[in-house]
Amino acid sequence: MKGMFLSKESVVPFIEHLASQQKVFAPNKKVHGSITFEEVNDANDVVLNYARALLSVKKYFLPQRETLLKYKLDDNSFEKQEIEQVNAIFLGVHNYDLQAVLKLDYNFKNNNPEKNYLKRREGAVFVGISYEPDNFHFSQSVGIDPHNTNGFDLFLHKTEEGFVLEVLTKSGEKLLDGFGEISEFQGEYPRNENFNASLYAPQSKLKEVFANSYDNPIWKEMAEKCVGCGTCNLTCPTCFCFNVEDNVGITLKDGSRDRHLDGCMLRGFTEVAGGEIFRDELAGRMRHRIYRKFKYISDITGEPWCVGCGRCTIFCPAGISIVDIVNRLVSDYDKQQVLNEGQMTSVLD
Ligand code: SF4
Ligand code: SF4
Repeated sequence: MKGMFLSKESVVPFIEHLASQQKVFAPNKKVHGSITFEEVNDANDVVLNYARALLSVKKYFLPQRETLLKYKLDDNSFEKQEIEQVNAIFLGVHNYDLQAVLKLDYNFKNNNPEKNYLKRREGAVFVGISYEPDNFHFSQSVGIDPHNTNGFDLFLHKTEEGFVLEVLTKSGEKLLDGFGEISEFQGEYPRNENFNASLYAPQSKLKEVFANSYDNPIWKEMAEKCVGCGTCNLTCPTCFCFNVEDNVGITLKDGSRDRHLDGCMLRGFTEVAGGEIFRDELAGRMRHRIYRKFKYISDITGEPWCVGCGRCTIFCPAGISIVDIVNRLVSDYDKQQVLNEGQMTSVLD
């Protein structure tokens, strides 16, 4: 392949070069103790060798909480909140997180476009980086290998001595203007694609599996372990459900309409007027969450709506693994198929 070579020693000057052009957000360990995307104030604080960030870059386009409008009750007037584009470079993004952003783009562009998300998203430039899969990543099973550059402007492929810097768009090329610490690279870079976790079946087969798994006993078994905390939803880069509520001030003269992220594993998620909760059982909520990742949207798009980041498993306080759930459904489906074939044979005999 053709690209540029960036040595380890040139990484900090490279980050400083990016930051001299635009605001940069990158993985950082100093602010919260675990890896989180933060604005770069010192290039030395950036951590490029990491397993996964606590939250994906989704947080910049779909904030956990935002005010949509403010209103006055005495004259019935209201004022919409102005939304600003996030004009920034997102550096060191793993490709499954960018694939998740592309899935959110699909969700928010179609049918009834979600303007706040789309406006924030417009100004983003992405510089990706390859990673070593740990025991929880399974992105390759959902079609994303660690060197997939789809959607990026620049991409850093890790090598022993530094990085092969792949230029993918005009915006990416422009970011390198005036940066002298790169040399031309011709050849192959090492590919690290050894995943320890994987799904037993591709989406084409999962479509059949999920069509036959609604009553699988695993939903009740998992519900016995699950504490309904919603961490799996809130850390998932492809979850996008939110709630909108009116908060009236104590003087009853004004108020705001606010939106906050919500999650289908939380009990109140399906609460409707009158206090009725139509997905009250944890087993039903668990099934709904997994069906949202592999059936409901996937039947329309043909793609899993999970990017295999492993967050919902690694951060689950009950140790519930999405890979184990899907693989159990596949095994149960295969066993049922064998039984059905046996019964057919004996009927024909
Ligand atoms: S993170 Fe685990 S325990 Fe919490 S709601 Fe999700 S599956 Fe249940
Ligand atoms: S469902 Fe789990 S593994 Fe899949 S994208 Fe969401 S958090 Fe990651």
